[in-house]
Amino acid sequence: MLVSALGEEALIDQLRRLFAVTAPGVPTSIGDDAAVIDTISGHQMVWTTDMLLEGVHFLKTWQTPRQLGRKSLAVNLSDIAAMGAVPRYALLSIACTLRTQVDYLLEFCQGFCDLAGETGVAVIGGDTSASSDGLVVSVSAGGQVLTGKALSRSGARPGDSVLVTGYLGSAAGGLRQLQDGIDSGRYPGLQQAFIAPMPAVAEARLALESGANAMTDISDGLASDLKHICLASCVGASISRELMPVHPELAAAAAQLGWDLDAMVMAGGEDYGLLFTIGANEAPAAVAAIQSATGTPVAVIGEITAAAGISVIDEQGRQSPMPASGFDHFLKYG
Ligand code: ADP
Ligand code: MG
Repeated sequence: MLVSALGEEALIDQLRRLFAVTAPGVPTSIGDDAAVIDTISGHQMVWTTDMLLEGVHFLKTWQTPRQLGRKSLAVNLSDIAAMGAVPRYALLSIACTLRTQVDYLLEFCQGFCDLAGETGVAVIGGDTSASSDGLVVSVSAGGQVLTGKALSRSGARPGDSVLVTGYLGSAAGGLRQLQDGIDSGRYPGLQQAFIAPMPAVAEARLALESGANAMTDISDGLASDLKHICLASCVGASISRELMPVHPELAAAAAQLGWDLDAMVMAGGEDYGLLFTIGANEAPAAVAAIQSATGTPVAVIGEITAAAGISVIDEQGRQSPMPASGFDHFLKYG
């Protein structure tokens, strides 16, 4: 059945039942003009929003609607986690053409609902509209953090170690694989990294508890996201190419297909791991705590410097400036 046959009200009615909120602290959710949530004393709220547009962020042929629904929430929860906050609420707005199948939307929402359930997030509302061209998804997410404990990008100090969770460039490899029409079974880990990123919620809480000074999620690529931390903290960084964690499938794909591995590792976006800095003495315990509790690899890739600018030390020990790259929606790659 097409959405044009079902109608907005009947669709929202189905979503209201799918997203039925049982969590405490939400007396009113889907069905009224606005959601009501209880405030929690001693905590601050963090809020974020991210859009996913067909033709810009995804093609419908790249993944199942269920996977797309999960990813739409995941990228938002990643921002909440990167603040050191616990994700609690989400709002889901969808615009689709009249030719959209109801089943496609319901599968999308089921994926969104699955990840919400796994992460303890209540879907408290949203908006539904017709679109003249393609599917548009806009998600807002809220989380809570103890007052004054949110981890910003601005707390990095000279001498801090620079750490990343997960692998760098895997999602860029997965995207390239899709764009080039390479069989998805050839590098399944890369495909998974792009299509089904998991927000590093537990990893972020452990980084916070270990004493991290600054944190962000790696959504635009290491070069951009480390620059964000350095500029916000008025510091620089020196990082080593050989310390950067590369998924074995990415190394293999680059060697076999002639991809520019360094560009993908340093500038590839959408990995949604964490990038954080922590006092050098605290770094080993942070690595151990995160790896043992979550199984996610954690790597120390360099250190924060008092001098501005980011330098990269290559495998031969030569130092060069970090290439100015990363994803910019209006500049494309540049
Ligand atoms: P309004 O006319 O006030 O914008 P709507 O008819 O758009 O109200 O929405 C009715 C209720 O359904 C609201 O509580 C809204 O938050 C919720 N809602 C609408 N669309 C969605 C959606 N895509 N996902 C979750 N909740 C939604
Ligand atoms: Mg509305």
